[in-house]
Amino acid sequence: MEKREQLYEGKAKKIFATDDPQLLIIDYKDDATAFNGLKKGTITGKGIINNKMSNSLMQMLEKAGIPTHFVRELSDRETLVKKVSIIPLEVIVRNIAAGSFSKRYGVGEGFRFDEPTIEFSYKNDELGDPLINEYHAVAMKLAAKEEIETIKKYALRINEILKAFWNECGVTLVDFKLEFGRLSDGSIVLADEISPDTCRLWDSKTGEKLDKDRFRHDLGGVEDAYQEIMRRLTENI
Ligand code: ADP
Ligand code: UDP
Repeated sequence: MEKREQLYEGKAKKIFATDDPQLLIIDYKDDATAFNGLKKGTITGKGIINNKMSNSLMQMLEKAGIPTHFVRELSDRETLVKKVSIIPLEVIVRNIAAGSFSKRYGVGEGFRFDEPTIEFSYKNDELGDPLINEYHAVAMKLAAKEEIETIKKYALRINEILKAFWNECGVTLVDFKLEFGRLSDGSIVLADEISPDTCRLWDSKTGEKLDKDRFRHDLGGVEDAYQEIMRRLTENI
């Protein structure tokens, strides 16, 4: 398997072609952005942590029956994945109110829901990833009705698996963002990443934030938090 030309450079990762048209290489950077790219910075070592954490969690999900794009870790920062056509929806699952939910609805951060919630954002940087409902997503042909049902089923199952795992690590899974894509046969798989960039993870005892919120809100100890959450994962995987 050979690394070919760069196809895309995003905010946190670069995507490379390979000599197999069905496979891509994801290369994780230390660059961090927040608030739709308004805030920019570097989190030293983040790329390595996000690569390894995402790969460990995707392998755990595969074992539990969730199809993912993961193929093989190639290096500290590089992973071979199945190429998908990304469904342009950010799928957000929440167990506890925080972030944009708290802001939008005036619900205090930390309010625990009896049942998890799912919401979708339309993945479109120019529009600032606006909230979108299922009818709109179907009307815009972003995904078929049945695909949305599959995505919701996978998202809730992923939440159950990840919540239980992080609980063993002494960590509360507050919320997270998923992206799904279609393989060439049309089947839906989990793509992109699962990392402290895309999840809110709080220490179960102290409530300390061990995720990108430390960067978003200048809380300090950003690198230490990424290392700590990785240490917890490594000890419990
Ligand atoms: P952004 O595009 O938001 O700046 P990234 O820097 O994380 O985000 O870039 C990674 C890009 O690769 C994202 O647009 C994501 O949707 C896309 N992607 C993730 N996994 C796959 C995959 N398996 N196949 C094709 N594209 C993918
Ligand atoms: N999230 C993400 N990418 C985005 C928006 C959100 O990974 O473009 C994640 C975020 O890290 C959090 C969850 O999705 O774990 C919910 O984020 P929220 O809607 O509260 O948005 P925020 O205010 O954090 O941007």
